[in-house]
Amino acid sequence: MPNPASQDPTRPSRLELNAPSPLEMPPGAMRETGQRALEMLVQRLSHLRERRPWGAATRAELHARLHEPPPAGPADFGHLLEVLATDVLPHAGSVDHPRFMAFVGSAPTWPGILGELLACGYNVFQGTWLESAGPSTIELTVLDWFRTWVGYPAGAEGILLSGGSAANLTAMVVARQARFGAHDPRAVIYHCTETHSSAVRAARILGFADEQLRALPVDDDFRMRPVELDAAMAADAAAGRVPFLVVANGGATSTGAVDPLPALAEVCRTREAWLHVDAAYGGFALLTERGRVALRGIEAADSVTLDPHKWLYQPFEAGCLLVREGRRLADAFHIMPDYLQDTAVAAGELPEVNFADRGLQLSRGFRALKIWLSVKSFGAEAFRLAIDRTLDLAAHAEARIRARPELFELLSPAALGVVCFQRCFPAREEALNAALVRGLAESGTGMISSTRVRGRYALRLCILSHRTTAADVDAVLDWLGSADPAGS
Ligand SMILES: *Cc1c(COP(=O)(O)O)cnc(C)c1O
Repeated sequence: MPNPASQDPTRPSRLELNAPSPLEMPPGAMRETGQRALEMLVQRLSHLRERRPWGAATRAELHARLHEPPPAGPADFGHLLEVLATDVLPHAGSVDHPRFMAFVGSAPTWPGILGELLACGYNVFQGTWLESAGPSTIELTVLDWFRTWVGYPAGAEGILLSGGSAANLTAMVVARQARFGAHDPRAVIYHCTETHSSAVRAARILGFADEQLRALPVDDDFRMRPVELDAAMAADAAAGRVPFLVVANGGATSTGAVDPLPALAEVCRTREAWLHVDAAYGGFALLTERGRVALRGIEAADSVTLDPHKWLYQPFEAGCLLVREGRRLADAFHIMPDYLQDTAVAAGELPEVNFADRGLQLSRGFRALKIWLSVKSFGAEAFRLAIDRTLDLAAHAEARIRARPELFELLSPAALGVVCFQRCFPAREEALNAALVRGLAESGTGMISSTRVRGRYALRLCILSHRTTAADVDAVLDWLGSADPAGS
């Protein structure tokens, strides 16, 4: 089919060499469209409570409404915003909603959202110092805040990444490089049955075979057992394999469990293995007293994954890897091709940093801006208060569940914001609890998700949002306790 634009006699078929860009907008139009988009966001956030936490539609319905060939000509921007507001954005979960307690939510603050917008508008290239001295200094500053929260010594370094999955992958590269300098078929990685799937996927991406992974069973509190870990490592070593990496949980996604980090660190020290702690969702509990107690020993890990886009209230995407011996990052990733020779950095007491030397990405955005802008705007104390309250709310949910043993059965107690339980039914417990998960979302009252605890179907509350109050938790538990999932 011929391009319709080329048939339009009012449109030139090619640009004059000195003509203005067809992709530029005058300031008035930028301001007008920008204000409309911004107003849409302010409206959404200031009326979040009145909205449903979840909306969906089938692929067929949405395909019929939205699918089309590439548009040849222009469309009115206001009309496009309307399409987004009516046909696209309502069909999604609002993971920042105060009643969103499913999976792991993300409730960014307004300064964080503006930080993302500014980073995007300035379009900083943050792969090299040459192109981003100021922004790189902000990233180094934010990473240093995280370093002190984790309790790492000076010399620890890090990098902001797309999320926990990228951080776990990056950690595995660094650990492997530190031990072998290459791939080694004798290498063995240990984790547990509660480990996030991203660690197993990272191992797959890096070429580790299934036989090189050990998914160890957990104790009654869903934690890796140091004695079993040590025994498994001894058996592998005796068989000529090389135990080199342990991936531990600093907040398991299903239950919030934290592995016994000091004991695991001891095993890793004697076996000369790298200890990586995946604290993607749980790590920022470190801002609170209770969180520091729960995550005791995290500072002994060789590397730590954190997800600022979860419990530090940043917009997607913001993940982080910290490495105790910071130079290990560049050991694993630094390569200097000819076409980047202009970007060599100055050494010295405060050496300049090319973030491209610390991970996969060369072109990378200014992720630190949103973190810096939001934490500076409110102060770290406001974040501590917000995170601390979510811990209170998870304890409140647990107490309410325990108080009604005829109605609910607690399956795992409150741990780093997560509580798992079941509604008691005389029969068909799995089907009826699953119907509650669906029914709650469809009711518009709230949203939770499910998991398995010791093989049993579990309702899972994950309370991390700074917006969630006890009234929200109560409303969700009241619905779950009174709804009739058999649909009589
Ligand atoms: C969320 C999560 C991940 C994955 O992080 P993404 O940011 O979604 O890539 C990994 N590990 C744990 C423990 C998590 O909670």
